[in-house]
Amino acid sequence: MASDGQTIRQPAIDLADEARRRGIRYFLISFTDLMGVQRAKLVPASAIAGMQKNGAGFAGFAAYFDLSPSDPDLVAMPDPSSLVQLPWKPEVGWLASDLWMHGRPVQQGPRNTLRRVLARAADMGFSVKTGVECEFFLVTPDGKAIADTHDDAAKPCYDASALMRRYDVIAEICDSIAGLGWQPYQNDHEDANGQFEINWMFDDALITADRHVFFKFLARSIAEKHGLRATFMPKPFMSLTGSGCHAHVSLWDGARNVCHAEDDALGLSQAGYHFVGGLIAHADALCALMNPTVNSYKRINAPRTVSGATWSPNTVTYSGDNRTHMIRVPGKGRFEMRLPDGAANPYLLQAAIVAAGIDGIAAQRDPGPPLDINMYTDGHRVTDAKKLPLNLLDAIRALDASTALREVLGDDMVSPYVKMKTVEWNAYCAHLTEWERQMTLDC
Ligand code: ADP
Ligand code: MG
Ligand code: MG
Ligand code: MG
Ligand code: MG
Repeated sequence: MASDGQTIRQPAIDLADEARRRGIRYFLISFTDLMGVQRAKLVPASAIAGMQKNGAGFAGFAAYFDLSPSDPDLVAMPDPSSLVQLPWKPEVGWLASDLWMHGRPVQQGPRNTLRRVLARAADMGFSVKTGVECEFFLVTPDGKAIADTHDDAAKPCYDASALMRRYDVIAEICDSIAGLGWQPYQNDHEDANGQFEINWMFDDALITADRHVFFKFLARSIAEKHGLRATFMPKPFMSLTGSGCHAHVSLWDGARNVCHAEDDALGLSQAGYHFVGGLIAHADALCALMNPTVNSYKRINAPRTVSGATWSPNTVTYSGDNRTHMIRVPGKGRFEMRLPDGAANPYLLQAAIVAAGIDGIAAQRDPGPPLDINMYTDGHRVTDAKKLPLNLLDAIRALDASTALREVLGDDMVSPYVKMKTVEWNAYCAHLTEWERQMTLDC
């Protein structure tokens, strides 16, 4: 890969050969747009050689990009190293793609953006490994209610019976990702009724981002097969804990974890603290990428849920093994960013973390001392703790104004993103709610 991260690796894998060898009849050439929607074309194996060479054409304006109907095709160049067979339909091979136009990589392409940011980290001497925890709800097909009506405990986390009533779905997802070599190690019922989490091993940030995209597709598809609907919506039910997408991060120089320091109280090196310093310095702008929907702000800054805690952050603080802060250091040599939610674009989530961390290291940002208090009950004592944005508009404005993040993520990614998210915010404002009517009718 060239140092700008934009050069497509010359494929050692010939997809037509793979099709013959593995019995693949169709390829799903897929990409993720700026708003995080996965788009794809189904290409018969007989046509894959040409698509591997020249890419698959898409009208960019038809997806969420800041493009016009008169722009030339977006060309999705499939990355053969991302090939996986759909576990529920193995005759279909799935491929993540990078986006090109005019013979150049498209700056607003989310996967392109992550590649660019990772190349920047590589230039600074480190690679990034991450693991994500994709919480989701299993709901009725219309999306309105928790599918399991017996799953109604006030404190449902780790509930053995509620977990086992969904054994068929959860085990099928877990078996599927085990078959893909992701090394899953646990499945649990989460803190909200109807909410689950499936964990697998961390890997290079680009691999984790591709897996994150695929996991959402897989979970939705398998849930549908079982007559259910899987949703990653951040806060589908006001009184219940929302769906986060925590990201665990470590930094590597070859086989050496450069954010590990054995003698430090939290087990973090100077580089690790500076990286955390970057996440803290840019938290409000990061929200635009990690909490990208109107609904996201009902998960963070939320009042206590019926289970007793929201498990999501309210403040820009960090701690050791304490889940009430934005960043938790659960063990030596890694940290957990607890801010992101299920709506985050998988590539931009990783790109945002690394961009803020790069700035933190470059500017030697000091995160200050860790806090070891229960932020939910005693947060008011920390009067100087920075609060998170209260809504999407504040977060978008913070990202728009963040010269540091613009510099690393690229103006040509941040400006289109801010523009499209502002359109989304305006669409939300144009929506008259029943609450307004109740509050204002008799004013
Ligand atoms: P918790 O619920 O305690 O936050 P989980 O076990 O659900 O943690 O998820 C932890 C995630 O962190 C997994 O994806 C795991 O592989 C990943 N992880 C563990 N160690 C590291 C590390 N050194 N670097 C990056 N990710 C890591
Ligand atoms: Mg056509
Ligand atoms: Mg977890
Ligand atoms: Mg969880
Ligand atoms: Mg976690």
